[in-house]
Amino acid sequence: MAGTMPENERMQTWQSFDLVLFGGTGDLAMRKLLPALYRRFVAGLFPADARIIGVARGQLTREAYIAQVEASCGVHAGENLDPAKWTAFAYHLHYVSADGARPESFGPLQELLRGRESVQRIFFLSVAPTLFAAICDQIGRSGLATPGARVVLEKPLGQDLASASGINRHVGAIFSEPQIFRIDHYLGKEAVQNLLALRFGNALFEPLWRRGRIRHVQITVAETLGVETRGGFYDQTGALRDMVQNHLLQLLCIIAMEPPATGDADAMRDEKLKVLRALRPIAGEDVQARTVRGQYKAGAVGGRPVAGYLDETGVPPGSTTETFVALKAEIDTWRWAGVPFYLRTGKRLQEKLSEIVITFDDVPHSIFDAAARSPARNKLTIALQPKDSITLTILAKNPGETMRLKPVDLSLDLAESFKTRQLDAYERLLTDIIKGNLTLFMRADELDAAWRWIDPIRDGWLRHDDAPRLYTAGTWGPAAASSLITRDGFTWNDET
Ligand code: NAP
Repeated sequence: MAGTMPENERMQTWQSFDLVLFGGTGDLAMRKLLPALYRRFVAGLFPADARIIGVARGQLTREAYIAQVEASCGVHAGENLDPAKWTAFAYHLHYVSADGARPESFGPLQELLRGRESVQRIFFLSVAPTLFAAICDQIGRSGLATPGARVVLEKPLGQDLASASGINRHVGAIFSEPQIFRIDHYLGKEAVQNLLALRFGNALFEPLWRRGRIRHVQITVAETLGVETRGGFYDQTGALRDMVQNHLLQLLCIIAMEPPATGDADAMRDEKLKVLRALRPIAGEDVQARTVRGQYKAGAVGGRPVAGYLDETGVPPGSTTETFVALKAEIDTWRWAGVPFYLRTGKRLQEKLSEIVITFDDVPHSIFDAAARSPARNKLTIALQPKDSITLTILAKNPGETMRLKPVDLSLDLAESFKTRQLDAYERLLTDIIKGNLTLFMRADELDAAWRWIDPIRDGWLRHDDAPRLYTAGTWGPAAASSLITRDGFTWNDET
């Protein structure tokens, strides 16, 4: 595996660290974080004395914990575990039982960390957000927060502006802003970084990246899955807070931000913040005009019948939680005035797909007669899922005697072009956390600005008390989502 790593990743061993993984026996840790750490270990990046310390309330021996992690890495690390490599990785694993809500239970953790104050200490809170404040308090009280320690917070980072500010206040009492890594795992995707490369590594697009050149932008994050076993959690959250507030708004920011002066974390985050602050509020009557919320009913996905949302385990009867959102965002800046950004996300949709589609303006004057013209426009499609690809749609002459324009695609499959294994999002993010690079993590003011824009939408929905529009599982969502965009004279990319 190390042989498939990019050259520059092979040699540089990380500085030593103690990664204290609260929730070390949970689903996220077992399925994503520990397999990602194992792959980074196999790539040769672990220094000899690095430690991963799983923390949870369960009473486990170190051996039992290692066996659990081995079973999980066997399934999720993406390769058969090499016994010698596994034994070497297991040497780095430790386990401590502690209850984040009970100060008296932190003794064994203090014991294990004693004498390692000069080593980079990282607290990864892979636990319910309701525990963030208590765990940070305990870390502070038990003197574990060394001056350079880092804390990592998993989403959801609050349910609204008030709760997010509460979390920020508590965490901020122990850790300063440069020590806080708020994860939006979407930003760890290779394709999202490619978006930065596309925009800021190429001169080609910049002159076109503005009103007068771009007609509209679409961002779609579609899932075929339903709520699976997370019905109870999802029902408290909904698509707006689970997806739009973080992933879709972050993608919008990367598309819309001004070029930062440098690649520094704060230069980048300053520019994203300006975009969030320039989003035109959607409040009052606008909520109904500019947003559509939906909920799936029974249907079929990939030819397999699936239940409706209300019949999913853990979802209360009559729930009005949305599993789909489409909305029209507008950015009030010189660059973007008048260019709509249509955002759409949902569960149980027709395809698993994440893409950004940038549609350019028509030619100012056509020299072709009506029969030759095509209604299609130039389009740049940046796919994040299922493939990481960039497609530029141009108008070409259809072969034959007569002149007829037809759209054709110039396509770039990035995995195929580079032929190296891509890091998964958590490998990338864990690498950045250990190296202390904050670029891909949300700052407190970004989080506040995102909630400030999202909260009035939810308030509007609650005030109007209208139920979400039902859509059949396996479709592209409620018909109203099509009307949202067709009334402006455009269509969703999958409907063209
Ligand atoms: P989970 O499977 O329920 O695991 C929770 C973990 O926290 C367990 O290890 C649990 O072990 C531990 N824990 C619970 N209460 C504790 C306490 N008082 N003190 C110390 N440890 C405690 O949850 P998860 O799915 O891993 O999710 C963890 C966090 O990541 C949540 O905030 C979730 O929203 C977020 N997240 C998860 C995913 C995912 O794919 N799973 C994706 C994105 C974000 P004990 O019960 O033994 O204490």
